Amino acid sequence: MVDKKVDFIIVGTGLAGLAISRELNFRGNSFIAFDNSSQISSYVAGGIFNPVILKRFTPAWKAKEQMEIAIPFYAEMERELQQNFINHWDIYRRFYSIEEQNDWFVAADKPLLAPYLDQNLVKNSNPSVKTDYGFGRVKHTGNLDTEVMLEAYRDQLQKKQLLKAEKFDYDLVKMDGNRIVYKDIQAKYVIFCEGFGVTRNPFFNYFPLHGNKGEYIIIKSPELKLDFAIKASVFIMPMGNDLYKVGATYNNHDKTPEPTSEAREQLEASLKQVINVSYEVVDQVAGIRPTSGDRRPVIGKHPEFENMYCFNGFGSRGVLIAPYLAPKLADHILENSTLEQEIDIARFKKRYFRRN
Ligand SMILES: Cc1cc2nc3c(=O)[nH]c(=O)nc-3n(C[C@H](O)[C@H](O)[C@H](O)COP(=O)(O)OP(=O)(O)OC[C@H]3O[C@@H](n4cnc5c(N)ncnc54)[C@H](O)[C@@H]3O)c2cc1C
Repeated sequence: MVDKKVDFIIVGTGLAGLAISRELNFRGNSFIAFDNSSQISSYVAGGIFNPVILKRFTPAWKAKEQMEIAIPFYAEMERELQQNFINHWDIYRRFYSIEEQNDWFVAADKPLLAPYLDQNLVKNSNPSVKTDYGFGRVKHTGNLDTEVMLEAYRDQLQKKQLLKAEKFDYDLVKMDGNRIVYKDIQAKYVIFCEGFGVTRNPFFNYFPLHGNKGEYIIIKSPELKLDFAIKASVFIMPMGNDLYKVGATYNNHDKTPEPTSEAREQLEASLKQVINVSYEVVDQVAGIRPTSGDRRPVIGKHPEFENMYCFNGFGSRGVLIAPYLAPKLADHILENSTLEQEIDIARFKKRYFRRN
């Protein structure tokens, strides 16, 4: 028996579910969300917002547009939830050669990168850090403490009875004309935001979501004294209280959720190339990034069921991408606007076989 009627059911409250549920709520839609904590990518993420690809000194996909939307979006959440979770710090890209320094200066002159890349070479003034060629400074970057943010948001939803901390069971979904019935809930639409968990979703497991495991170690080092992040072969990110996140790894093969000793060894080996002070590893975390076959987000309508949607494929950049794409998906559902082909799940429709 239907007990509750809502506009949307949202499955997953990671970065994707958070962004789309807030967007729909701003527009006056009701929703109920499900989350069973089966994926923790958003939870363990470094939370870094950085518009520049630091390997090649190129702008990330739609980086400027994403920064313009995402940072005010999270700042508004901070005010509403009365929590601080945005940290602003610069990223210092360690150079490996004179050629890299030259490439940096060329990149820093380009209009899209000029606001972010400092034109001056930064000499190292921290004796705890090793570098022969200095650093390039990336401005207007920082990170979100995603754990604090997600917990505060989920708490708020639970208090309003908008979140069920349980597994969404795909087998119990019933299509009733243009309505979806799930247990005692009737909804106009369902949006699946399960990250790598979508691989278990029989409605959407047809598009290629490979997943990429990432691990961080958390170290304590009172001697390190960094108030900026370093990007070398690893990222070293200040967390306060002499704690630093060091990572992350990229592994396409292992899809298990547990932290591994291999990752820890790899991260420590890289860390020792960058710092020359002692530290203690105090924690290690792992998650699976939802990385699509063509490395673009995967959002939009199910090929067969009109009122089923997917919001996924944010890979290693969910912090900036999710708030940028949430209004686009909301426009698509509510205003029938067209999605850009490169992000529309329709690009994979040939892989879909009808269910009956
Ligand atoms: C180590 C690591 C470091 C990272 N660092 C960064 C970074 O610095 N910056 C950045 O932008 N991105 C980073 N990322 C990537 C970022 O975490 C992802 O892009 C983002 O988390 C994807 O969010 P999501 O909501 O799509 O998926 P998820 O975070 O996986 O969320 C999916 C949610 O759905 C729930 N769920 C799934 N199935 C069900 C079900 N059947 N029933 C109920 N609930 C369900 C899960 O419990 C989960 O909460 C990092 C990722 C990792 C692993």
